[in-house]
Amino acid sequence: MALGLCNFNKTGTNNNANKDALSNNYADLHEPLSFLQAKAEADRCLYCYDAPCITACPTSIDVPTFIHQIRSTNLTGSAKTILSQNIMGGTCSRACPTEILCEQACVLNVSEEQPVEIGLLQRFAVDSLFEKQAASQLEHPFKRAKLKEKRIAVIGAGPAGLACAHRASMLGYDVTVFEAKNKAGGLNEYGLAAYKMVDDFAQKEIEFLLQIGGIHIETGQKLGENLSLKSLCDDFDAVFTSVGLGLSNQLGINGEDDDRVIDAIEFIEAIRQSDDLSSLSVGNNVIVIGAGNTAIDAAIQSKRLGADNVTVVYRRGEESMSATQWEIDLARKNGVNFRFYSAPKSFENIQTHNSNTDTYTKTASLECDYMQLDDDGKLTTTGESYKLPTDMVLKAIGQKFDKSPFTELNIENGKLVVSNYQTSMKGLFAGGDCIASGSDLTVQAVEDGKQAAHAIDQYLSKNQYLSKNQYLSKNSNLSNLSEEK
Ligand SMILES: Cc1cc2nc3c(=O)[nH]c(=O)nc-3n(C[C@H](O)[C@H](O)[C@H](O)COP(=O)(O)OP(=O)(O)OC[C@H]3O[C@@H](n4cnc5c(N)ncnc54)[C@H](O)[C@@H]3O)c2cc1C
Ligand code: SF4
Repeated sequence: MALGLCNFNKTGTNNNANKDALSNNYADLHEPLSFLQAKAEADRCLYCYDAPCITACPTSIDVPTFIHQIRSTNLTGSAKTILSQNIMGGTCSRACPTEILCEQACVLNVSEEQPVEIGLLQRFAVDSLFEKQAASQLEHPFKRAKLKEKRIAVIGAGPAGLACAHRASMLGYDVTVFEAKNKAGGLNEYGLAAYKMVDDFAQKEIEFLLQIGGIHIETGQKLGENLSLKSLCDDFDAVFTSVGLGLSNQLGINGEDDDRVIDAIEFIEAIRQSDDLSSLSVGNNVIVIGAGNTAIDAAIQSKRLGADNVTVVYRRGEESMSATQWEIDLARKNGVNFRFYSAPKSFENIQTHNSNTDTYTKTASLECDYMQLDDDGKLTTTGESYKLPTDMVLKAIGQKFDKSPFTELNIENGKLVVSNYQTSMKGLFAGGDCIASGSDLTVQAVEDGKQAAHAIDQYLSKNQYLSKNQYLSKNSNLSNLSEEK
């Protein structure tokens, strides 16, 4: 995909929905809590000893403490508790699938069947700090340690890269972040659904994060094009790579190169970057292929953009979808249909000539095989197929890591192998979606960035590094580090 704005406006019909209706459709998915609502919700927390929500949060936010601080109207303290563990607590409060993380662990699920709304409370606390910041009543809540006169390069300004940069700056390092696109933020800016990240929140969060100082972001700098790994490793004391998953998987079916068959990521990116949603085109009969949260986000957003029919097509059953049940239910509430046990086979584009007007109309359909599980549980075709009329197909069948700039590194299952965030190249660290252990969640990327900054600090301040053997034995950890003379 080209740098900057993508252009999916190559197919579909003109969007007839009016601007007001569209802005309503893309309004905040969750109404933020008022002060009174937040206090009442905070009152529900049992402040458990050894609270399971802390363990369930990948960034280990001290949930009971920040909720208690809301209860006692110490909102700035509450935000600091959150941000000290997760500098992108604002985005995570909007994007975390809390139903499988902190809120799933809440003990109230058992007694009241309704967990504390941890995500909404977190948002309340962080937003209130941001509002005070905007009114210039507060300094940045974190200070930098004594400067260490060492420089760190970060490749990729997504949540992993930015979290690493912020923590490294706190630890006293100067950081330069190299970003391929013309805006920082990664998928916070280009990928999360528009109704989760209203009011340009991704950029506001970056402004906040940069207030700490010592972080310089250079956009339009792409590793493998105008930036080389070798020169970064030569010029900086350590390098952290967090380039995410830059390539989209392909279907490999006939007709896939048609201009009505589009990557869902491109479609979502165009919505996120649009100043005028009514200028975007969307099909009347949209088919989304996939089973993850990207497929769900693309389906809901095309419906909200004005598509008449939106159908998610998936080759297995609903129980095998990787999207959370909450997201699947949300899609249904938005009028999205599902076709299970359906494997796309070919996209056919039919051109009809109208001799009266001497014009051509393009119609198209997606042919799908009916699928079934055989006695061994293996997915096979039934031998029968059907055709769904469509004028826009969105492919959401996963992203993959672009290995091309990293050919000298250890790669397993298509991702970088790390041990304590160190890659197989000395001085080069990695985290976020591009590493083997990445769980493809924003909150995990933030945790990776934070922990990688500490691993880099160990490496730079104590001259500690993993020897090749320690690195290769997957069990190595910080206690196995060797001292370099
Ligand atoms: C459509 C979509 C919706 C999602 N929704 C959710 C959600 O609701 N909740 C949730 O928790 N997670 C969600 N995720 C997952 C989440 O966005 C990712 O796990 C997270 O963004 C990973 O962070 P990262 O920093 O590793 O990578 P990214 O966010 O992908 O950032 C990587 C950065 O590196 C830059 N880059 C790439 N290649 C280069 C290069 N060669 N040189 C320089 N820079 C480069 C990119 O431009 C980008 O800015 C979603 C993902 C997608 C695709
Ligand atoms: S960061 Fe996400 S998982 Fe952690 S407590 Fe906040 S909402 Fe829950």
